[in-house]
Amino acid sequence: MNIVVQKYGGSSVADTEKIKFVANKVKKRVDEGYKIVVIVSAMGKTTDNLIKLAKEISEKPHPRELDMLLTTGEQVSVALLSMALIDLNVNTKSLNAFQAGIFTTSDFNKARIQKFKVSKIIDLLKEHDVLVITGFQGITEEGDYTTLGRGGSDTSAVAIAAALHSECEIYSDFPGIYTFDPRRYSNAKKLKYVTYDEMLEMASLGAKVLHSRAVEVAKKFNVKVYCASTFSEEEGTYVVADNIENPVVTGMSVMENQTQVTITNLPFDHAIIYNIFDKIAQKGFNVDMISIININDRLNVSFTIIEEEMENFDKYLKEALSNFNESQVTYEHGYAKLSVVGIGMKTEKGVASRFFKALKDVPLRMVTTSEIKISCLLDKKNLEKATNALIKEFEL
Ligand code: ASP
Ligand code: MG
Repeated sequence: MNIVVQKYGGSSVADTEKIKFVANKVKKRVDEGYKIVVIVSAMGKTTDNLIKLAKEISEKPHPRELDMLLTTGEQVSVALLSMALIDLNVNTKSLNAFQAGIFTTSDFNKARIQKFKVSKIIDLLKEHDVLVITGFQGITEEGDYTTLGRGGSDTSAVAIAAALHSECEIYSDFPGIYTFDPRRYSNAKKLKYVTYDEMLEMASLGAKVLHSRAVEVAKKFNVKVYCASTFSEEEGTYVVADNIENPVVTGMSVMENQTQVTITNLPFDHAIIYNIFDKIAQKGFNVDMISIININDRLNVSFTIIEEEMENFDKYLKEALSNFNESQVTYEHGYAKLSVVGIGMKTEKGVASRFFKALKDVPLRMVTTSEIKISCLLDKKNLEKATNALIKEFEL
């Protein structure tokens, strides 16, 4: 059996005309001799609207009940797409997560896929040319519905492709993955290849192309992922393990709304630092871009945190610092994190110097690096100047 997994995002199935268009696109592949597992998201803004509805009822909707509600979105789109396919004489059937046997952890709203009933899907594919399966949802061993986090239907698609050892095609309203967010920079170049590692960095750095978990799963099971536009025949982008072109800088991404937190005048004792970060982590805060400086045997610690995630942060930090009366905390808001990513950095020398040369007129608050990335923190008002300089330097 020649199986391919295709995923269509919410904007690709936003109305009935688009659903019929997708049905025709799927049928074309069937005519080429493929068996297709189609994963679909909820129509258009359905998930947003369902969340709004829940919030009108309750300030903090019960997580299990919220998933019970959100999973209805995908159930609508699979049924409609399946009807459209049947009208085209395609032998198909729609399935929700319960019927397809997609088992997850019981972390409602952010569950992780654990296993599929692969044999059931294979059996059904012997009888049908197409199976249309709900993205974004799963069930627990107890039979409760779960969801995988916003944008999670990418992960559903990649995970099912991994289970079926097939390729995965992700269709959206973007024709592929770009050197830089095309909404920010209309001259961004479309990439032919991008590696899993680059994609993981870019996804976690704010590039909203693929669900990060989907890339993690693709990397782990070596699933070849192809991202392209639903509505055009333009060649898309392949997400793969290695890129023979080995570009020094493949892409750039921006994350706005960063706050820099600085704690000054701590005793010179790294156990204290460990304790502070441990307490912050236990409360579920994500910190990033850490720097620790020793000044006359006293430590200054800086890190960044996303503005929207700061609720009660100050209170917990003050608790963690309660034994250090002489230390001080400051918050500086309105920063952005700008990063360039490329696997070629592993081998190519002089990338950092090119980065700093390009940004020589921009005050940088902090810089961090990994093997394949350089990130800097800067004032939002300098963002455009900095992005333009890097686009020019690295020909993005
Ligand atoms: N419908 C879900 C969402 O909007 C899942 C997805 O689109 O991937 O987040
Ligand atoms: Mg969606």
